[in-house]
Amino acid sequence: MIDNYGRSIDYLRISVTDLCNLRCRYCMPEEGVPKQPHSTIMTFEEIVSAAKAAAATGIRKIRITGGEPLVRRGIVSLCRELSSIEGINEVCMTTNGTLLRRFAEQLKDAGVSRLNISLDTLVPEKYNYITRLGNLSDALEGIDAAFDAGFDSIKINNVLTGGFNDDEIEAFVDMTRDRSIEVRFIELMPIGGGIDFDTSKFISCHHVLERVPELEPLELRDGVAELYRLPEAPGRVGLIRPISHKFCDSCNKIRLTSDGMLKPCLHSDREISLRGKDCSEMEEIIRGAILEKPEVRCALDSENPSMAGRDMNMIGG
Ligand code: SAM
Ligand code: SF4
Repeated sequence: MIDNYGRSIDYLRISVTDLCNLRCRYCMPEEGVPKQPHSTIMTFEEIVSAAKAAAATGIRKIRITGGEPLVRRGIVSLCRELSSIEGINEVCMTTNGTLLRRFAEQLKDAGVSRLNISLDTLVPEKYNYITRLGNLSDALEGIDAAFDAGFDSIKINNVLTGGFNDDEIEAFVDMTRDRSIEVRFIELMPIGGGIDFDTSKFISCHHVLERVPELEPLELRDGVAELYRLPEAPGRVGLIRPISHKFCDSCNKIRLTSDGMLKPCLHSDREISLRGKDCSEMEEIIRGAILEKPEVRCALDSENPSMAGRDMNMIGG
């Protein structure tokens, strides 16, 4: 469906849980989130209805996210159902990767076509620090398991944080030398736990190009990512710059939170409930939400936090 500003909206991100087995400092509070009564989280039936309704409006791609989607029981069957919906061409997942040893093959079999795996550092102590609870070896083994299961074009999401991982830019770019992997550097956003980070942590993706000048720009883009490549390398490097560049004019997505609220824009507190609605009512609401997408988001920098009004684990990134 085309929105009021001529953008074609064909991408729905669904947060299937606000729970997570990690507590990344820029995302969630240390104590985690209070476990919600089951009734506040969307059931699988509601998620499937919402996805069918979205497909009827022209949504073609769904990304499952969270929280950590792999901690929700039954996630594989949900993926199987979503990927069989007529009109949905692609079901992808964003995960921290730590549970992929167990799930990678099952997800592939259930029709998940692509995985984005979050990884901010290659140093075990730093991984433990930033995630508060995680082990680097679990994430790295998860990435290997995804390759072994036959996922290609795996994307690694790296939140670039000044004074924390900017000294590892070269090491992450090196991952693209011999594997067909896309390493995506994402500017830290003042949302969720990121709101409490000090100004020095918000650095531009431009640092990547300064530190690795041999990166060559590619003509094509991948959604909101500008793409680069090392000469002769099979992999690619993506830069996602929500802070230093506004990419609202090419935004093609809407989001559904774990408690069933549609968000026309990540950084706005405008939310529309899908709870208690049948599939055709959901379709009308989704059409309305698409027409409510603002032309541009609010100001976003270390002085102006996101207006999203929720932590990232509920929205899904
Ligand atoms: N648990 C999964 C994971 O970590 O990949 C999926 C959910 S997580 C909220 C989705 C993405 O949002 C991750 O790549 C994470 O790094 C990113 N994210 C969370 N908080 C962020 C922030 N303040 N700034 C930039 N990216 C953030
Ligand atoms: Fe969990 Fe992902 Fe948030 Fe980290 S970024 S705390 S892995 S939801």
